[in-house]
Amino acid sequence: MTNNLVWQDQHVSREDRSSIKHQKPCLLWFTGLSGAGKSTIANALDLALHNMGYHTFLLDGDNVRHGLNKDLGFSDTDRVENIRRIGEVSKLFTDAGLIVLSAFISPFASDRQLVRNLFDQGEFIEVFMDTPLNTCEARDPKGLYKKARAGKIQHFTGIDSPYERPENPQMTLDTSTLTIEQCLATLLSFLKENHYIREKHGKQASTDDTSC
Ligand code: ADP
Repeated sequence: MTNNLVWQDQHVSREDRSSIKHQKPCLLWFTGLSGAGKSTIANALDLALHNMGYHTFLLDGDNVRHGLNKDLGFSDTDRVENIRRIGEVSKLFTDAGLIVLSAFISPFASDRQLVRNLFDQGEFIEVFMDTPLNTCEARDPKGLYKKARAGKIQHFTGIDSPYERPENPQMTLDTSTLTIEQCLATLLSFLKENHYIREKHGKQASTDDTSC
């Protein structure tokens, strides 16, 4: 199908695009059980980075299924395709120079690896939200555990479908012991220490410092 397609080189490189944003593009991939705090922490980080003047984009599991992936169900094939498309979209956003945050349960190591393979070394940051099942279930923010326990939802991660723990995540956060502020501080330190963002915040950097 793609035999007659040739990759078109572009005059403006991804480095050109990110350099005017004073940031190093990357994908922060939040994975973990439902209720582990992926959306909450990804949203908090998105807001903090935005307020600091960085250019971000947040992809949230449920929202993507309302649009781009609304034709997909929850069969094995569709589940893999769901993650593949999210990976490809994230890749386009990082090519545009953005810091992308994705919050998806993504329970299977092979699916996460599929996305990791799309990115260069250091661009894919796996953030494992390692909140214990009993805390997630007690929170049950969407009432899904209750439904799963009652047999109204099948193949629910953590109940009757496995969650494969990441073996070498870049970061592990347990929101049963860490506050939102502590998670945020950990993530921001990581991004600064690894030069995804600068010590000085972006708004300041873009107005009083042109050395980037
Ligand atoms: P997920 O996206 O992983 O399904 P959510 O972020 O939607 O999880 O839900 C996590 C729930 O836990 C939210 O209702 C949030 O307010 C609550 N919560 C309590 N303490 C924390 C914490 N320290 N970090 C993140 N979420 C927390």
